[in-house]
Amino acid sequence: MRYSQLFGKTNKTAPHDADSTNARLLTQAGFINQLMAGVYTYLPLGLRVLKKIHNIVRDEMNKLGASEIYMPALHPKDVYDKTQRWDKIDVLFKLEGHGEKQYALGSTHEEIVTPLVQQYVHSYKDLPLSVYQIQDKFRNEQRAKSGLLRGREFSMKDLYSFHLTEEDFLDFYEKSKQAYLNVFKRCGLDALIVEASGGVFSKFSHEFQVPTQYGEDLIYHCECGFAQNREIAEVKDGDACPSCKIGKVIETKSIEVGNIFPLKTRFTDAFGFKVQGPDRKMHDVLMGCYGIGPSRVMGSIIEIHNDDRGMIWPKSVAPFDVHIVSLSNKDAMIKEKIENTAESFMRDLELQGVEVLWDDRDASAGEKFADADLIGIPLRLVVSEKSLAEDSVEWKERHEENARLVKLTNLVEEVTITVLP
Ligand code: ATP
Ligand code: MG
Repeated sequence: MRYSQLFGKTNKTAPHDADSTNARLLTQAGFINQLMAGVYTYLPLGLRVLKKIHNIVRDEMNKLGASEIYMPALHPKDVYDKTQRWDKIDVLFKLEGHGEKQYALGSTHEEIVTPLVQQYVHSYKDLPLSVYQIQDKFRNEQRAKSGLLRGREFSMKDLYSFHLTEEDFLDFYEKSKQAYLNVFKRCGLDALIVEASGGVFSKFSHEFQVPTQYGEDLIYHCECGFAQNREIAEVKDGDACPSCKIGKVIETKSIEVGNIFPLKTRFTDAFGFKVQGPDRKMHDVLMGCYGIGPSRVMGSIIEIHNDDRGMIWPKSVAPFDVHIVSLSNKDAMIKEKIENTAESFMRDLELQGVEVLWDDRDASAGEKFADADLIGIPLRLVVSEKSLAEDSVEWKERHEENARLVKLTNLVEEVTITVLP
C-alpha cells in the first residue's frame, strides 16, 4: 500500500492532553484519533493492529473449543432486573427509548448470554459449552485516561463457559489460563497470573497483569509464580515468598490485560437455568467468564515496546510487515528508477503474502526516516541512489541500531523468510 494513499498521517506535534506514551505515539503516528475522553476512532494503521490482536485472541479461543457469536450491545432493562444489577453496576450507561423504555449499553454480557444459552441447553448432554464474542463495551468510567488503557468505549473479548460439575469447570478454567498466556505472549507481552478478589461472586479470580511502571495496578509477586493483587495481598515488598519460601516478594506496578472469574450459579440461578442430569433430576449449571481487552492490550504493547523515536511493534501485531522507503532524487531518471524498483519490489512481496507500506511521498529522507521510526514497522527497506549503485537496498530492523546493504537478487526470499511466521 502506498503511504500517499493512506488515510491518517503522522503529525509532528503531540496531542496536548496525551497523558501516556501510548496515547501520544498512537495519535502522533496516525493510528488513533480521539473523539472525546476515552473514545477513539481507529484509523487504518490502528485498525490493522487491533484486528491482528483480535485474530490472535480468536485463534486461541477457537483452540479452547469455544464458538464465536456476536451479541447486541443494546440491552433491555428487564434482564438486569432479574439479576438485580441495574443499579449495582456503577459504570452502566443507561438510556431511554420510546415510551420511556429503559436500555443499557453493554458493559459486560452475563445478562444476555445466560438466557441465550439457556434456550439451547436442555440436558447434561449439551454441556460443557463455551461461547465468546469480540465487541465494543461501554463503561461510564469515572476517569477515562491513559489512551487505550482506560476507555469509555473499548474492545473486549468476553467468553462464557457452562458446566455440569465443579470438576469440569475447573478443568476448563485451568485450560483458559494457558490460552490467555498464549494470547499475551503472541502479542509480545509477558503477563503474570495474579490472584485477585472474585468480586461478589466467589472467593477468587485471576488477573493477567503486565508489569510496567505505567500501570495503574499494584501487584506482589515472586519468581516462583506466586502473585497477588494489592486488593487481596497478605504480603508486602521484600517479604519472604509465602509460596516457595525461598524467593522474595517484589512490589510492581502493572496493567491488567485480562481477568477470568468463576461465576458459580450467580447468573444461572437468576434466570432459573438448570439442566436434566443423567439421573433425570434437575441440576445446577456452573458458569465462568473470561475477559481480555484487545484495545488495552494494544496500548500496553506500546507502553512496553517503544523508544525515544517511536513505537516498536512486535511482528505478530505490526500494522505492516515491511516499510519500504524510497528516497527522492534531483535527477528525474534516477528518481524514476528508484520508484520503479520500490514499486515492483512491493508487488513481488505482496504476491508472497507480505504486507507492505511504501512511503512514496516526495518528502525529505529525514522526514521519512523519522516517520518510519515513529510508526514502528519491524523491517525498513530503503531504496536510494546509493543503495541502487550497489544493486542493493538498505535493510534495517526497527529494534536494531545498524543498517546493512542487502542485494536485490534474493531480496524477496530473504524478506519473506524474515517476516512471515
Ligand atoms: P479495571 O479494574 O481496570 O477497571 P475491570 O476489572 O473492571 O478493569 P473486567 O471487567 O475484568 O475489567 O474486564 C475484562 C478486561 O477488559 C480487563 O482485563 C481489561 O483488559 C479490559 N478493560 C476493562 N475496562 C477497560 C477500560 N475501561 N478500557 C479498556 N479496557 C478495559
Ligand atoms: Mg478485571
